[in-house]
Amino acid sequence: MSWDARQTAMLKAMGLRVWSAPPIVEEDEPVAVIAAPVPVEPVRRAAPAVSAISALPVALRHAPAPVAAPVADTSERAQAIARMDWEELRHSVAECRACGLCEGRKNTVFGVGNARAHWMIVGEAPGENEDLQGEPFVGQAGKLLDNMLRALKLGRNEGPAEQQVYIANTLKCRPPRNRNPEPAELAQCEPYLDRQIALIQPKVILAMGRFAVQSLLRSSEPIGRLRGQVHQYQGVPLVVTYHPAYLLRNLADKARAWEDLCLAREALLAGTSS
Ligand code: URA
Repeated sequence: MSWDARQTAMLKAMGLRVWSAPPIVEEDEPVAVIAAPVPVEPVRRAAPAVSAISALPVALRHAPAPVAAPVADTSERAQAIARMDWEELRHSVAECRACGLCEGRKNTVFGVGNARAHWMIVGEAPGENEDLQGEPFVGQAGKLLDNMLRALKLGRNEGPAEQQVYIANTLKCRPPRNRNPEPAELAQCEPYLDRQIALIQPKVILAMGRFAVQSLLRSSEPIGRLRGQVHQYQGVPLVVTYHPAYLLRNLADKARAWEDLCLAREALLAGTSS
């Protein structure tokens, strides 16, 4: 992969040296025990990517690695959420008391960006700063994310839809002391994320970190095995990458994350040109 002078300068500003990533022998993100979110019934989700990536170079067209059986929350609550419009959804999240995280939150963190954005970025859960400000990715990890997006001329605040990202998390409330999300919390929050994606109809989704992957692809495979391929979430191309907080601690993987962003852009362009 090669970059022009502007992108090279941006990458340097992100603390990245421009070189080709060595063969993958990396440690994955720290592994936590991942259980599949609760209520289940076969439907939708992750089908192998085909049409949207047909224009990609062969090396980028691997079929997705095996994922756990597709499942969906078919409870009445999930069905009601699946019918909400944007304002109802926002209100429902703000008032949500479906799991214990509501007890400790200062704010729910619904999401930020243009509701017609072509890019959707899915993270994990609000941290302390996000909980205080009610906006995703406003801490150090968010700054890194913004720098990476800027290198692709993307932003969360202004610009035409094709240069905009919408950023949301799998959980809308902060887990205490930033502990990992629990399966039951993910299950309760998942219909909100599903509905956000359905309303936004992004042209590409970037799933950052294992909890986003768990929610969207039903996979507990390590990130290192899922990245480098174009997956699908309900017909939308989905690219897996490292969580920015992980990248802050593992600088060597920033180059791979940059490649993931470039792959997402290629998948988007392939989809919009076909
Ligand atoms: N990490 C996330 O996954 N989301 C945020 O909003 C902040 C940090």
